[in-house]
Amino acid sequence: MIVLVINAGSSSIKYQLLDVHTAQVLAKGGAERIGIEGSLIKHQRRAEEAVKILARMPDHRTAIKEVLAVLTSEDHGVIANMGEIDAVGHRVVHGGEKFSSSAIITAEVKQAIRACFRMAPLHNPPNMTGIEACEEAIPGVPQVAVFDTAFHQTMPGRAYMYALPYELYEKHGIRRYGFHGTSHRFVGQRAAQMLGKPIGETKIVTCHLGNGSSVAAIDGGRSVDTSMGMTPLAGICMGTRCGDIDPALVTMIMDREGLDMKGVDDLMNKKSGVAGVSGVSSDFRDLDEAMEQGNERAKLALEMFTYQCRKLIAAYAAAMGGVDAVVFTAGIGENNPYVRQGATEGLAFMGIAVDPEKNRVKGKEADISAEGATVRVFTIPTNEELAIAIETERLVSAR
Ligand code: ADP
Repeated sequence: MIVLVINAGSSSIKYQLLDVHTAQVLAKGGAERIGIEGSLIKHQRRAEEAVKILARMPDHRTAIKEVLAVLTSEDHGVIANMGEIDAVGHRVVHGGEKFSSSAIITAEVKQAIRACFRMAPLHNPPNMTGIEACEEAIPGVPQVAVFDTAFHQTMPGRAYMYALPYELYEKHGIRRYGFHGTSHRFVGQRAAQMLGKPIGETKIVTCHLGNGSSVAAIDGGRSVDTSMGMTPLAGICMGTRCGDIDPALVTMIMDREGLDMKGVDDLMNKKSGVAGVSGVSSDFRDLDEAMEQGNERAKLALEMFTYQCRKLIAAYAAAMGGVDAVVFTAGIGENNPYVRQGATEGLAFMGIAVDPEKNRVKGKEADISAEGATVRVFTIPTNEELAIAIETERLVSAR
């Protein structure tokens, strides 16, 4: 089955065309600067070099049409015509409490996704625009929504409730939802295979460490806790996001810095995290380099990140009453030995220790646990697009 995976943001649409049965990526790329001067498509066919194609894309509808035109074009195409696309899988950020799994898109499902707009005002509306643009461009092709939040809907109340007045939960749906669910689920399943056990008998902590980072506790294949909250600002500190802070600081910073709501929101989302602390960069490669050159604030930012990650690994092992495996995934988790070392340091008392040699691995699946350690530590490359394509195939085939 050929599945087109779409991740529509406010001014960009990322795409991948995959053959689900062979897990082969036929083409991938992104339409960028939609609605802005100088819009273009970056397109890569199989293992070929990426090309840039200028295209006028005033809105998402034209962007989807242009992407489909590239996929079927003589010069850069990989399919003869749009009829070869069997289904479309959309990444949708927030599914609220309505979606505990992926869903085939229908009029009711679209209505329910719209009802979640208030939960993720920056993400869900462009996701929906992507869905509607595809409906228009390739009518009749089944479409599936795969939600970032769905996997975490199994969390118990004690993990997802905030100690705020209960009415706020009832009135506004204020609770922890969690994100990166597609990735946590994907690497959790793979970790169970690597453990050689049925997933129902495993306790796994998954660390998705990228520009956005979150940690999840997966007990018997079900998410029972995760570090992101109602929004993706919570939990471990990130590239530019502050993660968990004293909630009283929000109004205090507004007062001291003379900021309005948007100002403080910007500060916490875009100017904080390891970038804000180090003053160097949000990119961990830059931080590693700065630390090696003796930059103390870069070192501090890296130490904060690994320390927070380490505390969560131990906390989630406690939450589950044990742990069989810890997984590192996403850009930092897959590629940064310093972070993996720091995030597991001092956890030998609970059977977690990495082998310094094995820990050098980058971008590959590996068991990096030290000899004699009772808990396995894995690096597992995540593949959210493939996971979305597999989900899409599963739902469409079961219709
Ligand atoms: P996003 O959350 O935007 O998908 P990624 O998962 O790509 O982000 O993570 C970005 C982070 O991963 C950056 O801090 C970067 O330093 C790190 N990273 C990505 N690829 C590599 C690599 N090949 N080597 C070292 N670090 C990498």
